[in-house]
Amino acid sequence: MTVVRPGAPVGVLGSGQLGRMFAMAARRLGYRVHTFSPDRDTPTGQVADVEVAAPYEDTDAVRAFARRVAVVTFEFENVPAATVEAAAALVPVRPAGRVLHVTQQRLREKRFLRDAGLPVPAFVAVRTLDDLRSGLATVGLPAVLKQAAWGYDGKGQALLRSADDAASAWAAVAGRESILEAFVDFERELSVVAARGADGAMAHYGVIENVHARRVLDVSVAPAGIPEPLAAEAVGLARAAIEALDVVGVLCVELFLTREGRLLVNELAPRPHNSGHLTVDACLTSQFEQQLRAVCGLPLGSTERLRPAAMANLLGDLWAAGEPDWPAALAAPGVKLHLYGKSEARPGRKMGHLTALGDTAEDARRRVLDARRALARPG
Ligand code: AMP
Repeated sequence: MTVVRPGAPVGVLGSGQLGRMFAMAARRLGYRVHTFSPDRDTPTGQVADVEVAAPYEDTDAVRAFARRVAVVTFEFENVPAATVEAAAALVPVRPAGRVLHVTQQRLREKRFLRDAGLPVPAFVAVRTLDDLRSGLATVGLPAVLKQAAWGYDGKGQALLRSADDAASAWAAVAGRESILEAFVDFERELSVVAARGADGAMAHYGVIENVHARRVLDVSVAPAGIPEPLAAEAVGLARAAIEALDVVGVLCVELFLTREGRLLVNELAPRPHNSGHLTVDACLTSQFEQQLRAVCGLPLGSTERLRPAAMANLLGDLWAAGEPDWPAALAAPGVKLHLYGKSEARPGRKMGHLTALGDTAEDARRRVLDARRALARPG
């Protein structure tokens, strides 16, 4: 496998905060970064060497982009298959298009996981309202209906508490092909961010504990407060998933821990993940540098975590009463501010995050939440 050496140009499909933090890691190692997305002045474009603004469907533009870089990766997994194929005909794309194909459609992803022997909640495919009604008999109540394609951050989802909710849930997914899953009464949510090199070597950051608010990640804490055997089991699931998918790059496995102590896989993300943002400040090698190393065919870096850490997302809602009080948060010892360069603060939009290091995971959590509360107060 060819090694893409520091100094070479690397390409990123997508231009959000994940690409921005990837670009920052890549530039630190001396790489040039090109980003491709339909938009201009993007979070990634602001720190990249080259920002290409063209529709993903413009395969001529994709080919022109690919010709100028030594490897292509992505930070946004809903890139059309034809876009990835156009790039892959010219330059290595890592992870491969097959990984995207599986993970960008929830039904394909769940079937893949089940067929690979990984534990998942009970689920059925739903194409009609009748499917939904009969599916409820299979998965039971309560249940969650999710659009199969193009869903992220809890959008296009509905919770069904009784069979009477079927029609409104079907409307919530706009009558599109969906997956109906058993609702998991979880004790907590966890994730494992892992990386796999071109030589098959794997590295991981241990188990991270996640709290969601309105189905969007709110706070992540590492290490998760779970017993060691369970942590080992979670890492084993991540290893099984990254190998079954043959990922070269980063894969995040999102998990539910049920009240009975079982682990179930909720979702895969074949790229750095919001729950891994704390690795930037807390670990020797961040998830973004790890992505770079993996896709460039370099050795993976040490994932050693220097201190327990916590991350709190900053959503656009925080701007409701005006600009957040940045100095107040920055005054907190051990707290780091990350902003993504987005000019418009819409409710629910991920604008940035705070990371805090602490003596324990709970200390880090308390520090990051205190700092976020301080932001909301007028200065
Ligand atoms: P997803 O878009 O599938 O990652 O879902 C976003 C969030 O919604 C998850 O992190 C959970 O908090 C919640 N959620 C999704 N699916 C389920 C489920 N089957 N049971 C319980 N909660 C769920």
